Amino acid sequence: MTKHRHHSRTTQGQGDSQQNDFGDLPAGRRGRMFEHGRLRLALLQLIAAKPAHGYELIKAIEEKTRGAYCPSPGVVYPTLTLLEELGYVSVAASDGGRKLYTVTAAGQGHLDDNRVALEEMMRRSEMQQRYRSNVALPVQHSMDNLKQALRAHMQQDIVSNELALAIAAALDQATQTIAQLKSLNPSRTTPMTSSTTPRSVQRFRQEGRRRLLTVKRVTSVTPRMVCVTLTGDLEGFNSPAHDDHVKLFFPAPGSIDPILPAGPKGSPEAAAGPTPIMRDYTPRRYDAAANELDIEFVLHNDGPATTWAAQVQPGHTLGVGGPRGSSVLQGDFDWYVLVADESGLPALARRLEELPAGARAFVIAEVEDSSEEQRFTSNATVTVTWVHRQGREAGTPELLLPALRNLSVPAGVGYTWIACESNVARALRNHLTGERGFDKQWLKAAGYWKHGAVASHERHDD
Ligand SMILES: Cc1cc2nc3c(=O)[nH]c(=O)nc-3n(C[C@H](O)[C@H](O)[C@H](O)COP(=O)(O)OP(=O)(O)OC[C@H]3O[C@@H](n4cnc5c(N)ncnc54)[C@H](O)[C@@H]3O)c2cc1C
Repeated sequence: MTKHRHHSRTTQGQGDSQQNDFGDLPAGRRGRMFEHGRLRLALLQLIAAKPAHGYELIKAIEEKTRGAYCPSPGVVYPTLTLLEELGYVSVAASDGGRKLYTVTAAGQGHLDDNRVALEEMMRRSEMQQRYRSNVALPVQHSMDNLKQALRAHMQQDIVSNELALAIAAALDQATQTIAQLKSLNPSRTTPMTSSTTPRSVQRFRQEGRRRLLTVKRVTSVTPRMVCVTLTGDLEGFNSPAHDDHVKLFFPAPGSIDPILPAGPKGSPEAAAGPTPIMRDYTPRRYDAAANELDIEFVLHNDGPATTWAAQVQPGHTLGVGGPRGSSVLQGDFDWYVLVADESGLPALARRLEELPAGARAFVIAEVEDSSEEQRFTSNATVTVTWVHRQGREAGTPELLLPALRNLSVPAGVGYTWIACESNVARALRNHLTGERGFDKQWLKAAGYWKHGAVASHERHDD
């Protein structure tokens, strides 16, 4: 697999604090923007301005925060129920399960009692408007211009190699210039992408848009791994972290049209529609210029995703949602340990492609046999240990655990990433944090599938 330009483009500027109409929003913590009291007040104020349904309120908050915060229905609907129980709102109409919320006299009284808090929210909002018009808007305009200029070239049927390279060089030049502008910002003295960047894990949330995409190509990575290239409405697709995941929505058996959820997760619309068949997969490669997204599927024995991938053909469609949440590792580590079975190999391969020259990585990968070994691309110095099941059952620690025990790592601070069957991931983590004394802060272990479960995704923390 080749190295893809987009993978490194999103790690800049992530330490900045963002703001929105309802106050400060630390980057990477969008999911917990409001304290409960403030969300309650914000919802009540919106309802007092105009009676609204739950989904309209979610949309209104998303618009007010310019897409920075889209509260989940799982947070909004219980808050509305609480407002109803407190007597601050009443349900004015209930049409097909959709409740229209209207403010009551008590609700209006509560707003009046909290005038000071509301004024503070408004003050922050005004500050934010000033911030946007002074700082963010000019940048936003320039980014829009850039998008238009790129689109003008990329929408042509044929883009010559020479033109593509010239555009890439112009973008690289701009990136370098922007990186050097740091001295103009007195509040930032630390460059974000140099070796002096503090080590941290930055968390992001995105809107998690759903798209219906079309299969453009199907290629074989190994006998048991299929790469499906999707195209279509990929505008705005962004996957900052190697272990991001998208939700894939598959067709019901006997159909070729995927079922997309009828509304946001947890909403009455979603509950009323047919149940979508969804699984988590890694965005292996996104190429904005070619308008392509690759997903690599392990062909294991069973399951709707595997069955779909085994027979998929160009022209078929697939629903894709997200990515919604990303964890981006910042700063340089002295070494990286990456452990996976086949399900984690797409994310692992992406990670290797993103590592810079000079980095040191140790890979332990479990596959069926030597025909399943993949060739990785990386600028880093990588040592790969393949372990082969050779007909043994998948998802046991029998092979990965001894291989990990045998691995000795250099001195210094390292980062370890594990993705495989859930119980195996836990066993590997226990070995590293127990016997080996690895720092839990720099260790991520996830179950990408689980024996006896479907669509399982488990993150192993303490
Ligand atoms: C964040 C994340 C990213 C992922 N990225 C990828 C990816 O890029 N490529 C990829 O192929 N998978 C990936 N997976 C794993 C994938 O989501 C699961 O394997 C999923 O269960 C497959 O769905 P299915 O419909 O084929 O099987 P399911 O219906 O979910 O399961 C059916 C049966 O198959 C078993 N099973 C499920 N997966 C496997 C497996 N890999 N090997 C052996 N048995 C299995 C289950 O235990 C169950 O018994 C990822 C998972 C997560 C959580």
